[in-house]
Amino acid sequence: MPPTSTRQRRQEFPEPSSIVAFPWLGGATLLPPLTGQPSCLILPPGHSAMRSFTKAQRQAIERDLRRLVEGEVLFDEISRVLYASSACIYEIPPLGVVLPRHAKDVVAVMRYAHERDIPVIPRGAASGVAGQAIGWGLVLDFTKHMNRLLKVHPRENFVQVQPGLVLERLNEALRPYGKFFPPDPSSGRFCTLGGMIATNAAGIHSLKYGTTKDYVLGLDVVLANGERVWLADEGDPLFQRLTGTHPQVASLVEGLRHL
Ligand SMILES: Cc1cc2nc3c(=O)[nH]c(=O)nc-3n(C[C@H](O)[C@H](O)[C@H](O)COP(=O)(O)OP(=O)(O)OC[C@H]3O[C@@H](n4cnc5c(N)ncnc54)[C@H](O)[C@@H]3O)c2cc1C
Repeated sequence: MPPTSTRQRRQEFPEPSSIVAFPWLGGATLLPPLTGQPSCLILPPGHSAMRSFTKAQRQAIERDLRRLVEGEVLFDEISRVLYASSACIYEIPPLGVVLPRHAKDVVAVMRYAHERDIPVIPRGAASGVAGQAIGWGLVLDFTKHMNRLLKVHPRENFVQVQPGLVLERLNEALRPYGKFFPPDPSSGRFCTLGGMIATNAAGIHSLKYGTTKDYVLGLDVVLANGERVWLADEGDPLFQRLTGTHPQVASLVEGLRHL
């Protein structure tokens, strides 16, 4: 699909902009990068990262996605406006939104988007203040259907969660066990585990407890091309201790690895 002209784009999107900023602030730090790299990328009009679609193309993509996924597919104007913003100053209406019901939906969307060179923007609570949860491509919103605490393993000290689980919900569920998830961003009442992992969220107790990355044992990941992989730092002493001393954890990890 060739890029449309700037004029067409202006007609299509109510809030067009020839400048898209992607400040990548990473985790909790709000300091400019120390590397001297620019923290924002200015894209010229017509750049493929700003490609827009005709109405017919959008309708075709919506039809395809409805056929491919079991989750919800939202391409109406109200949804696009609602998903155009987040806890940041930017506004970019997405091409459309998918609310995946399970990992197979995520695989289907990623594969479809990859084949057509459409960006995908995973989205949790959209509390990332740098505009990370918005973009003109397909938004994947994990908060509605993929928001469950799957299992608590209190003796082994770990949980299995879906990415859209809100941190506060997790801590409520852990309270009866006398446990909690230590990283404590001040957005904990609404931010999700998926967003916390992606931004390596931290909080005021991070000097003592560490940040989100210190508490991730393994990840069931869908890559940009739709390939599903299990990622874990198997050299991590915590990982080795868990899998070494608890046969059921070892078999769970093995199961996840072969999903
Ligand atoms: C009032 C307020 C207070 C805050 N306080 C803190 C703080 O103390 N510490 C701190 O670190 N941050 C803080 N933040 C920033 C933000 O809340 C955190 O970065 C939070 O972890 C983001 O979670 P989210 O669910 O809102 O993710 P989103 O904002 O929806 O997404 C953030 C990033 O994660 C990606 N992402 C989301 N889900 C997935 C997924 N399933 N798979 C892959 N990528 C995914 C998104 O694409 C995006 O790049 C604050 C924000 C606000 C508005």
